[in-house]
Amino acid sequence: MSDSYDVVVIGAGPAGYVAAIRCAQLGLSTACVDKFQDKQGNPSLGGTCLNVGCIPSKALLDSSEHFHRIEHQIDAHGIKVKGASIDVPTMIGRKDKIVSTLTGGIKQLFQANKITHLHGHGRLLGDNKVEVSGGTEERVLKATHVILACGSEPIDIPVAPVDDKLIVNSTGALDLNKVPKRLGVIGAGVIGLELGSVWRRLGAEVVVLEALESFLPAVDHQIAREAQRVFQAQGLDIRLGCRVTSSDVSAKKVTVRYSNNEGEQSEELDRLIVAVGRRPNTADIAAPDIGLELDERGFIQVDDHCRTGITDVYAIGDAVRGPMLAHKGSEEGVAVAELIVGQVAHVNYDVIPWVIYTAPEIAWVGKTEQQLKDEGLPYHTGMFPFAANGRALAMNEAVGRIKILADAHTDQILGVHLIGPYVSELISEAVVAMEFSASAEDLARIVHAHPTLSETMHEAALAVSKRALHKTN
Ligand code: FAD
Ligand code: NAD
Repeated sequence: MSDSYDVVVIGAGPAGYVAAIRCAQLGLSTACVDKFQDKQGNPSLGGTCLNVGCIPSKALLDSSEHFHRIEHQIDAHGIKVKGASIDVPTMIGRKDKIVSTLTGGIKQLFQANKITHLHGHGRLLGDNKVEVSGGTEERVLKATHVILACGSEPIDIPVAPVDDKLIVNSTGALDLNKVPKRLGVIGAGVIGLELGSVWRRLGAEVVVLEALESFLPAVDHQIAREAQRVFQAQGLDIRLGCRVTSSDVSAKKVTVRYSNNEGEQSEELDRLIVAVGRRPNTADIAAPDIGLELDERGFIQVDDHCRTGITDVYAIGDAVRGPMLAHKGSEEGVAVAELIVGQVAHVNYDVIPWVIYTAPEIAWVGKTEQQLKDEGLPYHTGMFPFAANGRALAMNEAVGRIKILADAHTDQILGVHLIGPYVSELISEAVVAMEFSASAEDLARIVHAHPTLSETMHEAALAVSKRALHKTN
């Protein structure tokens, strides 16, 4: 095995493994160093996303959604099901199988693209050397270019230290061995809502303690208000403005103490998930004397093209500024590979879609209404509810809406906000439209198949110029 490569990538999450594949496609000799180990202690490619993030959480969201529908919604179709029950180990086993299929797939992609995979901790040294240690290899690699894609890890809080038994982080929350009777979640962010929903749908009483006074502040306020109302109705007990002060663990229970504007409170719980954000995995990514600059929160400092201050060293994904999303990291990986071979590469950070995979799902791209107001940009709004969409009614999923914000002068679409069924799929149309600088009128003139959920997007686009067809007021 050679010790010299055109490119060495540190990290094999969706940022790093995609960067490695694109580098190899472009004819660069490429090695990828990754330290992740699965539950059995075996090296496993794919990073947080495939192993303990996007994919396993979506597998559990799907299983729990099936159960919830059978228990609470299938009756409406005239289907009677008695005695449905959930077999948690089977559900977790299905999730693990999906993970191993996909992580094994990355291994095959590495072999097909002749990418060398080294298992161990990668550390950047001077002269673009990479030390690999602590895994199955102890080596120093020489690279012409280095891509740092070391990702992120859950933030811990001292008032609720994770013990992987009663107090877990997002990783442990994907592996609970039974449905807790009473589950606490600290943090009403994306993970708290997705994983809180999984266990709520399976029957847990779920209390979500959020420090902020506002719910999902990054989401368009109107959509966030609707989401909060629906989630509360589903039984997620979301408590805002709660400052957790301490927790005690006994043999079977966790007691969490917190304060809110009504004073000191406490909750006795069977399990507690801590989901208060993620921090970059950069503690030991580079030798201290080589000048890799981190910001005050540990993110690697990069320019618009993911270049660090060190020549030919790039950083991508969760370890750098911008949203902590798999697709954002992957696009940065492709862009950096193409920059290395002298191509023109660009990531459009203004048009990155977000999805929260609750039921109903929430998705958005571009600016929120509050951002447009803050920036003083005049806009028109077009909104259409799924309640007036034939397909949504046929599916018994007529909840939510699509809202399009368009420039008042040019009609260019500035933001699209969705809450409702399968909006994780519907958002793509908005992304394509915005990527091509489409106007609301452009969307309004596109033929949408009938009956589909996508007609809601069409009607929202028509509503921007007040001509939605299936609206009574
Ligand atoms: P990571 O995926 O974190 O990968 C980094 C890899 O580098 C890891 O394997 C790590 O072990 C390894 N590593 C770190 N340091 C070193 C080192 N020094 N040497 C060797 N290896 C190292 N995002 C979405 O877009 N959609 C979702 O639905 C979604 N759901 C999520 C659900 C959960 C529960 C969680 C926790 C996250 C979710 N995310 C989701 C976020 C997503 O997982 C991350 O944005 C994404 O994985 C970041 O990719 P990355 O390649 O930058 O880093
Ligand atoms: P988050 O930033 O989305 O939410 C964390 C929440 O915890 C915030 O609302 C914050 O105010 C709250 N909080 C922080 N400290 C607290 C404390 N001490 N007490 C109570 N509340 C506290 O973070 P997350 O949910 O941990 O997820 C991390 C990141 O992972 C997300 O921001 C996202 O980038 C990514 N992710 C994406 C998806 C997706 O795309 N569907 C899913 C999961 C995770």
